[in-house]
Formats: sequence, C-alpha cells, structure tokens
Amino acid sequence: MSETLVDIKSLSMGELENLIVELGDKKFRAGQIYQWLHQKLVTDFDEMTNISKELREKLKSKCRLVALRAEKVQVSKIDGTSKFLFELHDGNLIESVLMKYHHGNSVCISSQVGCRMGCRFCASTLDGMVRNLTPSEMLDQIYRIQVLSGERVDNVVVMGSGEPFDNFDNLLRFIHLLNNEKGLNISARNLTVSTCGLVPKIYELAEHKLQITLALSLHAPNDELRKTMMPIANKYSIKEIMSACRDYIDTTGRRISFEYSLVKGVNDTSECAKQLIDLVKGMNCHINLIPVNPIKERDYEQSETKSINDFKNKLEKNGINVTIRREMGRDIDGACGQLRKSYLDKQ
Ligand code: SAH
Repeated sequence: MSETLVDIKSLSMGELENLIVELGDKKFRAGQIYQWLHQKLVTDFDEMTNISKELREKLKSKCRLVALRAEKVQVSKIDGTSKFLFELHDGNLIESVLMKYHHGNSVCISSQVGCRMGCRFCASTLDGMVRNLTPSEMLDQIYRIQVLSGERVDNVVVMGSGEPFDNFDNLLRFIHLLNNEKGLNISARNLTVSTCGLVPKIYELAEHKLQITLALSLHAPNDELRKTMMPIANKYSIKEIMSACRDYIDTTGRRISFEYSLVKGVNDTSECAKQLIDLVKGMNCHINLIPVNPIKERDYEQSETKSINDFKNKLEKNGINVTIRREMGRDIDGACGQLRKSYLDKQ
C-alpha cells in the first residue's frame, strides 16, 4: 500500500466529514462510517452496507483501514488473562493484554513498537524502538480484543510496550477517539496512562484537563538509585517529577498513581520505604507496588514476600494509599514486551 493513503480510523469526526464531502458525498455519511469503524468494528469497507458501492470504492482507493491481525493468543490457566500478539500492516508485532477483574474488563495496550527508554527491568526496550503506533493502531488493539473475546472492554490502561509520552500527539488523538460517543465511548475516567516521567509532557497533559488517571513509574525514591534502573532519571530529577505531578493534581483535580516495582535488595529496603514516604507524604496519590517480573536478560530478582509486605505496611502506617498489584498472566509472558521478545527470538 502506498504511504499517501489516509489512515481513516485515526480521523476525528470533523476530519472524516471533510473527507466525505471532498469525495463528493453527503456530510452525514461520515457519522455512519464513523460508527462502522468505531462501534461495529468492521475490518473491510464492503461491510458498510448502508454506504453506496461507489463511495466504498472511493474510500478503498484513498484510505487504509487499519485492522490488526492476531498472530497469537495465549490464555492464562491461572487467572484467565489473555495476551494477544498482533501483526501490523507493515509486519511489525505488538502485544496487548485482556485482564478480567470483578469490577470489569481491562485492556492494556502498547503505544509504540518497542521502546527507547531503556529501563533495566523491562523486556520492551531490549531491542530499542522501531516506530510509534498510530491512533488507529492503539484503538484497534481494543477493538480486536473486544471482537475476539466477545467481552465488553470497560477500562483501558496504556501500560504495554512503549512510552506513551514519547508518542504524545497520537496518544491525545487516541484518547479523543476512545471517548467519542459514536465510538466505544470509554470515558477518560476509565483510562490510565503510564509514563516513565517525561516532565514537560506531564505539564502539557495537565493543560488539556482530561479526567484520565496518570500513572508515574517511579521505582526508586532517590535519583542515584533511579539512575541505575531507568536512564530517563539522568534527564529529569525526582524533584522535577514531583513538581510536575503536584501541578497535574492541582490542575486536573485527579489523584496520581505512582508505580514502584520491587526488586530484591535494590529498592525494597526499609531505608527506601522511608525515603518514599518523605517524597509523597501529604500528596493526593496512590502507590502501586509491583513485585518485579524477572526477565531472563537481566539479573533483577523479585523481592521476598516478607519484604513486600513490610514495605507496604510502612507506607500504610504513614497514611499512604498503597496496593500490591496482583500478578496476572505469569504463565503467559505477562510482563511488558515479554511475549513479543520471546516470539521474535524464536524466529
Ligand atoms: N513506558 C511507560 C509505560 C509502560 S510500562 C512507563 O514507563 O510507565 C508499564 C509499567 O510496568 C511501568 O511502571 C514499568 O516500569 C513497569 N514494568 C515494566 N517491566 C516490568 C517488569 N519486568 N516487572 C515489573 N514492572 C515492570
């Protein structure tokens, strides 16, 4: 396919209206087409049965209709979590996860092919970043999972491979399309975006005053330690991150989530807990402790259950909201980027 094709699933309603008018048809057709794309989740223009054959042919010659192909689906025998390996139109592979909770179904999506942030414990970044995902490719992970599983998706977390703030404009467009009432109509409150802490983008996102949950991957309570785990710590200090987070809370009225992956003997000590308490005390936030999911390429080990519980108790005693993230899909390469990596390695 030629590169000049319009990515129709990434267009806003207004842009779609302009396109349809340009193609010589009535503006209201855009609403119908939008519904076919974002509600009925079709993968072919010929499925749009209330659209004339003539317009469908024009659309086929002008547009690319992004539809991901499931290369592999793995279902966990432990907890029913499903992991999807999708192939993009250019042959790249990405992964997404469906998690079933009591409070509804959550889908975790990728925002880039690979990642260039280099976090030590993460499999997504081992082979670097290949390219950004388009808004349509982010959306279609959710659409295909809904079709393939037959389950309604209630919550979306942008916590798969990639750094969403490194693909900021496409992320914003994705959010608006996801919120649209003529689409899946998933509200901003049911969306969480996780970042390793690109400070200028935290301020920029705040200005949009969206009601999404921001999750900040902290993982260490001081810069020295954070630098050994996350290269981005060489660019932005924890002090700068905390100021940006306070601004985000003030501007949006939303509570922030801090993610803290516990690594044995690295960041799970009582001194670390104390430093973390000093950092976030009095802040409108929540701390998510994630027992690190070890990857074979790195020597990081998961903290002992006792250290994890001690760490949690210390935070709680200081009045901090904290949960330990339940590990899901451990038997199916559940952690970020593991499935894609093991699949590519095998080939
Ligand atoms: N780039 C974004 C989003 C992707 S990662 C970010 O950094 O936030 C989603 C979360 O999983 C991040 O907190 C990330 O640090 C964490 N993570 C990645 N690999 C992990 C692993 N092997 N074990 C535990 N947490 C991991």
